[in-house]
Amino acid sequence: MTKPRITVAYGDGIGPEIMTAVLKIMEAAGAEFEKDVIEIGEKAYLAGHTSGIAPKDWETIAKNKVLFKAPITTPQGGGYKSLNVSIRKTLGLFANVRPVKALHPYIPTHHPTIDTVIVRENEEDLYAGIEHRQTPEVYQCLKLITEPGSEKIIRYAFEFAKSAGRKKVTCMIKDNIMKLTDGVFHKIFDEVAKEYPEIEADHYIIDIGMARFANNPEIFDVVVLPNLYGDILSDVAAEIMGSVGLAGSSNIGSECAMFEAIHGSAPDIAGQNVANPSGLIKGALLMLGHIGQPKVAEKIENAWLKTIEDGIHTSDIYSPEKSKKKVGTDEFTKAVIERLGQKPESFKEVTYPEESKPIQIKVEKKPLPKKTLDGIDVFICEENRNPDDLGNKLRELSEGSPLELVIITNRGVKVFPDGNPLTFCTDHWRCRFQPRQGSTITAKDLIDLQGKITDGSLEVIKTENLYRFDGELGYSLGQGQ
Ligand code: NAD
Repeated sequence: MTKPRITVAYGDGIGPEIMTAVLKIMEAAGAEFEKDVIEIGEKAYLAGHTSGIAPKDWETIAKNKVLFKAPITTPQGGGYKSLNVSIRKTLGLFANVRPVKALHPYIPTHHPTIDTVIVRENEEDLYAGIEHRQTPEVYQCLKLITEPGSEKIIRYAFEFAKSAGRKKVTCMIKDNIMKLTDGVFHKIFDEVAKEYPEIEADHYIIDIGMARFANNPEIFDVVVLPNLYGDILSDVAAEIMGSVGLAGSSNIGSECAMFEAIHGSAPDIAGQNVANPSGLIKGALLMLGHIGQPKVAEKIENAWLKTIEDGIHTSDIYSPEKSKKKVGTDEFTKAVIERLGQKPESFKEVTYPEESKPIQIKVEKKPLPKKTLDGIDVFICEENRNPDDLGNKLRELSEGSPLELVIITNRGVKVFPDGNPLTFCTDHWRCRFQPRQGSTITAKDLIDLQGKITDGSLEVIKTENLYRFDGELGYSLGQGQ
């Protein structure tokens, strides 16, 4: 068998210490791999690469397809882009997988039996970073949720659950409010769940789901979420497990994958031989499963659990009551290596499957729905806060157009016609025009309408076409419409 080649980045701060430690443990456990080392992070930033990585190193990552990365320091100040975000987006790493498992009683937690995997969508949602200040008062961030992106992450969560012998997948969304974006995520979840009858599927609205998780995480097995909710829940999960410093994660794409600890480069303790390598060990366990060496991961995880239960602890997890010995990075590493082949006694021994393959997700292209034009939302910046003035003016200006004004909303709430004088209004008005009775409309009619509005000295700041897809509404109704 040819050994897999992985790309290794030693990172910044405590990165080199903990990466050296983890590579030693992997080699001692019999992991088979060749490595190419790249220098990313501080040195690359300072050499003028604003994304923290030199162009030639992208080639190495793309060739090897697996990146094992220690934390890096993002320099303070403007102009530097987050390397993690660049890697995720450039390599299409759509799934962020973060297992969280309690180490009670050695690491204090209120939830001694928590054992959950958070599967977070990694590329879409508000993280597309498309933001605009549209009026003096109003700022906007676009939330983009796609059908293929949702299907990919949801299928990944079910395939992960199946391969890890997990019993339940929970989806968390806010589709009582965001009926289209979170609604499509939920709808695809329900469809995909039907293909996995052996796995229980349930869902929560994110607010109650997150609250339930914080209070009773034991009831969750695998949780799949859109990007922002997943970002928040994965940190909540790591925190209630007892220590953010003990969690690892994988970032998985169709071609490439990246494995890491979730903590940062801890410059305050760098070079002192006190850093805990456990988070990066967790990243290595996920990587070993990915490169088809699950039994090596099993050996390391059992030895690591035995080390923790033997009370050999680095200073970040040391407590006089539970620990027997406070050790540095090197001594902790040695202790894990000495225990390779041993099983934990108080923790449950872990068993990995004999074989593992990277999870491959295929999303079939669907037939395109029939798309019909149903009107336009014209967004107007107007300082006069009287909605009736604006409504009457727009009705006048649109005379002769096949489109008529149906509603004006301000921050989503209907203010014309028949608004409530108590509604607070900003300078940002969404004015919805739809075909008059018996009229059909074309894209040209939308442009002509905007011309009439602009000629009437109103400021159009943005428009959004309204469509139906196979007859179904492709836009939300205004509150009160
Ligand atoms: P941090 O996670 O580096 O440190 C927070 C605290 O936890 C510090 O007190 C630190 O000493 C401690 N700590 C962290 N890891 C530890 C370990 N393995 N063992 C013992 N103690 C540990 O967070 P920060 O201080 O906010 O960030 C420092 C730098 O790391 C910043 O430049 C930030 O941008 C970067 N960062 C990188 C990543 C990454 O590369 N994935 C993630 C987060 C932060």
